[in-house]
Amino acid sequence: MRITISLGILLTLLSCGEELRLGSSAHIEQVTKEIDDEVLINAENRPEDWLMYGRTYNEDRQSPLKEINTGNVKDLGLAWITELGTRRGIEATPLVVNGIMFLSSTWSKVHAIDTRKGTIIWTFDPQVPKYYGEKVCCDVINRGLALYKGMIIFGTLDGRLIALNASDGTKVWETLTVDQDKHYSITGAPRIVKGNVIIGNGGAEFGVRGYITAYDAMTGELNWRFYTVPGDPSEPLESDALKMAVKTWSGKWWEYGGGGTVWDAIVYDPELDMLYIGTGNGSPWNRIHRSNDEGDNLFLSSILALKPDSGELIWYYQTTPGDNWDYTATQPLVLSDLEIDGQSRKVIMQAPKNGFFYVLDRTDGELLSAEPYTYINWAKKVDMKSARPVETEFSRYNKENVTISPGPNGGHNWHPMAYNNTTGLMYIPVQVNSFAYGHDPEWKPRSKGMNIGALTNEKNPTRDDPMSPENMEQGVLLAWDPVKQQPSWSVPNSAFPVNGGVLTTAGDLVFQGTADGRLMAYRAQDGETLWEYNIGSGIIAPPISYEVDGKQYISVAVGWGGGIPSLWAKATKTLKPGAVYTFSLGSDEPLPEKNIKAPGLTQLTFLATPGELEQGRLLYSEYCLTCHGFMGMNGGSIPNLAYSSEAVFDMIEDIVLEGAFLEKGMPNFSDRISAEEVQLIKNYILYSASQMSK
Ligand code: CA
Repeated sequence: MRITISLGILLTLLSCGEELRLGSSAHIEQVTKEIDDEVLINAENRPEDWLMYGRTYNEDRQSPLKEINTGNVKDLGLAWITELGTRRGIEATPLVVNGIMFLSSTWSKVHAIDTRKGTIIWTFDPQVPKYYGEKVCCDVINRGLALYKGMIIFGTLDGRLIALNASDGTKVWETLTVDQDKHYSITGAPRIVKGNVIIGNGGAEFGVRGYITAYDAMTGELNWRFYTVPGDPSEPLESDALKMAVKTWSGKWWEYGGGGTVWDAIVYDPELDMLYIGTGNGSPWNRIHRSNDEGDNLFLSSILALKPDSGELIWYYQTTPGDNWDYTATQPLVLSDLEIDGQSRKVIMQAPKNGFFYVLDRTDGELLSAEPYTYINWAKKVDMKSARPVETEFSRYNKENVTISPGPNGGHNWHPMAYNNTTGLMYIPVQVNSFAYGHDPEWKPRSKGMNIGALTNEKNPTRDDPMSPENMEQGVLLAWDPVKQQPSWSVPNSAFPVNGGVLTTAGDLVFQGTADGRLMAYRAQDGETLWEYNIGSGIIAPPISYEVDGKQYISVAVGWGGGIPSLWAKATKTLKPGAVYTFSLGSDEPLPEKNIKAPGLTQLTFLATPGELEQGRLLYSEYCLTCHGFMGMNGGSIPNLAYSSEAVFDMIEDIVLEGAFLEKGMPNFSDRISAEEVQLIKNYILYSASQMSK
């Protein structure tokens, strides 16, 4: 395992007769230029590198490295930390080639890091306008990059696709992939498929129509686009697939966008030459508003196989027909060959939000099995004859508010799972959670902010779930046997449902970060805890492993935030600045004591009647809650206003009505909130702070 310089570089070194300084732009150019389709298809043969989002085209996040193993993982220690200059969520999977790491961070910034020293080589800031913070559901995050022929290619929060020179971070090309007047965003990693960059987008909570696009990787020119849901049927439909899909819709869905955004899973199978994508939820959530409560609404919440050269549909499987719950099927897709009933099957596997673990034959989309991997109450089972879920009688919450499991956060979300083909187990970061859905017949979409149309209606009775397990808020690392469709082992990893993505290695190990700030190593076979390291700040991103100069490393990007965590709460006492943490055997660097302090709001007096406080609470719920969270919770990565400092509190009028904190991503609300209303909100904040200190 000593050969870390590839043959190509060796020849270059010999031919030019001088040493190429590691980490120099000439070195980076050499080691990234050779990453072409052939190298990507054979990424399995480069155990020292992590060349693609899911490591290989299978996206199983299984590293063949085993220097770190069950016997010595206890000696794993901190090698270096690189701070990234952010305090918001980091969900990214880094890429590594020949010891050079590429990583995306908040506001779609990209860093190149020399892993030999832990230093930043270059940073590229695409200058995403900060008002975009309001146009996304789930923090200003980015999940990853693509590496191809000397370029780093990534999407930006405001919907651009950008190619950089990997050697120095200068721009090669840039193209706009969305209508920026609509609430589209890109948070997912693009994938390289046969010279194309494939990218989707998000925004189904804000009323958009989903699609995926293939751009020429060398020039950024558009090659094809596939829409996942039909548009206005009075206009020509873009594909034969949509001519079939349109029959499953009703009402005026196109006025609400429809949804079906492809915001995460995009996987290519070079052997079958098929491109698989996962599609998102309906827009709005409640099918009553979207489609007169009729039809399957293809291709929402589906796994689709497309021809990579044309975007033509080959097959589809819809996990949640007529989605009503934000049950996206955008969760990571993993390819493998499994022995099922004595036959080797080429499968595609997914644990989407709806709580069922699916195994499909990826040659034709045939459902091979589907079993619940977490507690669910919206469906009884998946019927194998019709390949459809059998819904419970209360699942559609039209006449009553219903507490449904899983909630919109999903039994599993974007946090990558990992498959180990030695143990034959899939390691899934499961989120145990529920949500009270309801129907308001008077609901109307608004022009700004989220439009989900599924919140509880005070006029309706509420139905709780007497069958639900006692602990309905927790994260669990689940080792799932995809052949038997049953759990092998599981460990509760924190009291907070959202934890980190997963890595598995040939050292019989599983690595995962937790909401309560620990990086964990488990034995892959039986889940025994073998090592833990307390970072002290919640982890949501997945770790990766790679090798430099003959030594194996584990790296994870740490930055508490993302969908739920940025809004609601943190599970650690402290929050730390966003950073990459890297570990190796025998290292023992000290962990710096550097916390983001949560300032306390001192006791300011206020004068308000109970009625005014209630008005303040309603205004807070409408405009502030989705980012700043419930008042008095301990605060996520976006400040909980009850903890504001007096100095900031004094500025609230400027912040809300003048856009004083626009640069931080706080919108200017002067088009929606009056000065009197700001005062009502301020009093409500002060009231909440006074209640907290009791
Ligand atoms: Ca969604």
